[in-house]
Amino acid sequence: MYNKILVLGAAGQIGRILTKDLLEQTDSDLVLFGRNITDRLSIQNDRVELVNGDFSDEKTLEKAIQDVDLVFVNAMNRAQDIQVIAKVLESKPGIKMLGASMAGLHDDVPKALEEFAQQNLPSSYIEGEKESAQIIEDSNIDYTLLHLTWLYDDPSNTSYELVPTPEILKDAQVTREAVGQAVIDIITDEDQNKYKRKGFGVGEPNTHYDKPSFY
Ligand code: NAP
Repeated sequence: MYNKILVLGAAGQIGRILTKDLLEQTDSDLVLFGRNITDRLSIQNDRVELVNGDFSDEKTLEKAIQDVDLVFVNAMNRAQDIQVIAKVLESKPGIKMLGASMAGLHDDVPKALEEFAQQNLPSSYIEGEKESAQIIEDSNIDYTLLHLTWLYDDPSNTSYELVPTPEILKDAQVTREAVGQAVIDIITDEDQNKYKRKGFGVGEPNTHYDKPSFY
């Protein structure tokens, strides 16, 4: 079990859902990190500390990471940012990292979903995701990368499956709420070795469509 968790990008959509889940389902203390976070989050809780900062701000990151044993990274599309995060994490061995990455970076989604991503996302975004994942995979960090398929919101649906990368992830969609639950399930699993330095596709079972149903 992790005692103190740093959420990078905590004002983001998954960041907010995960924060709620962590407060409700674990005893961990939280450091919530993000741009202007003190203006954007109004959480009053003894277990929570708010830190204003950008991922590129190495000094602020170094300070925020003190005493933390797990870091959740809620955006992995800018390699410059991930380089800084990786540098700080590599200087503090023993900290676990979980990252919100995207599916399809390892030729691991069906052709139709790959084409849908290419048609609907800027190539610079996909390249940034690829480069960022590579930086983490090439590091000596104890990482778990969650390669998320297309996201939507439905608080009543936390159904998900983990598909070890690079097995094909056929699922076309998953809720952010299910991703939050997947993170909770992973970090509270007694067998942490299952996730060490591995990637997992994350999708909603039985959504083997050519594109997400909400597009
Ligand atoms: P989100 O709402 O955009 O949250 C990402 C958060 O990361 C934002 O709050 C953003 O800050 C923060 N962030 C990014 N760069 C930062 C930096 N340099 N310094 C500080 N904070 C930074 O995204 P989400 O819906 O929670 O999804 C989580 C991740 O999954 C996203 O990064 C997305 O790329 C990825 N993903 C999305 C999909 C999809 O279908 N949408 C599919 C696969 C993967 P600001 O709020 O200040 O901008």
